[in-house]
Amino acid sequence: MTATFPILRLRRLRQHPVLRDLIRESDVTIKDLIFPLFIKGRKGKKQAIETMPGLFQIPISALPQEIEELRCLKVFSVILFGIPPHKDAVGSDGFDDQGIIQEAIRTIRTLAPEMLIFSDVCFCEYTDHGHCGVLSEQFGKFDVDNDKTLELLVKQAVSHAKAGADVVAPSGMIDGMVQAIRCGLDDAGFQQIPILSYSVKYHSCLYGPFRAAAEGAPSFGDRSTHQMDTANAREAVREADLDVQEGADMLMVKPAHAYLDVIYRVKQAYPNIPLGAYHTSGEFSMIKAAVEKGWLDEKKAVLEILRGMRRAGADFIITYYAKEFAQWEAEK
Ligand SMILES: [Zn+2]
Repeated sequence: MTATFPILRLRRLRQHPVLRDLIRESDVTIKDLIFPLFIKGRKGKKQAIETMPGLFQIPISALPQEIEELRCLKVFSVILFGIPPHKDAVGSDGFDDQGIIQEAIRTIRTLAPEMLIFSDVCFCEYTDHGHCGVLSEQFGKFDVDNDKTLELLVKQAVSHAKAGADVVAPSGMIDGMVQAIRCGLDDAGFQQIPILSYSVKYHSCLYGPFRAAAEGAPSFGDRSTHQMDTANAREAVREADLDVQEGADMLMVKPAHAYLDVIYRVKQAYPNIPLGAYHTSGEFSMIKAAVEKGWLDEKKAVLEILRGMRRAGADFIITYYAKEFAQWEAEK
């Protein structure tokens, strides 16, 4: 029989701070975090992103300074998003070996060989219509053409791998994207490059500030035909199933803070597959806005929210707070 009150007192183990540290079930360290970088332009100065306080669009010429800062803070994982100088209907810059993101990958590779570089694989930042792939028309309605987009995703992923990306991360929720990219990478000799799939990405309004930063808002319509309905959770496991069967090495849930139940479900379904959570721009900017008003203690709020994601089952987190979190750690 298990003991109960008054023999059992759960407050006993909370009396000493060192004991609390010792028995903590989950925690966040800088090694668990990935920092997103928005790359725009070859030359010039970095540009502040109005909707995301403290973050910038960074030109290639400013990468040495940025990478040095990250290095000093011991932030060794980045995920790259590119904003090309020219956009077209198929997002050509996305799979051009001389494209903006390929050049950024090569630059970071040279500056910091130890840096782990994730590359986002999608077309919304590269197409002039802002959709995640090639469009085709059916019954007078334009939509992302799934299978034509797969061909281009393969070209984009291979081009990123050639430039030196360590992990490719397809984010478009295009059916079959993991299988197509796996085959394409293997055929090109990149069998060792893992795929982090945005397996469960919701049709969320929480990407709003990111869209401003990545200049990838759709010029008409929305992404509801490929991203998941925000009301669904059981379907998330089906999405994860599909990606696992197609050979995804790691899974991801996006957004994170408002979807802890989904992180938990996916982790329960696939406890042995590394799971990431994407702490979105909307979730970042909400904290920033509350902090600006003096309503929240930023450091405590960020730690608590990131811990929540880890507690739910995320092995790692992509967050715009990675750099500041590292600064706070360094100041301790
Ligand atoms: Zn996209």
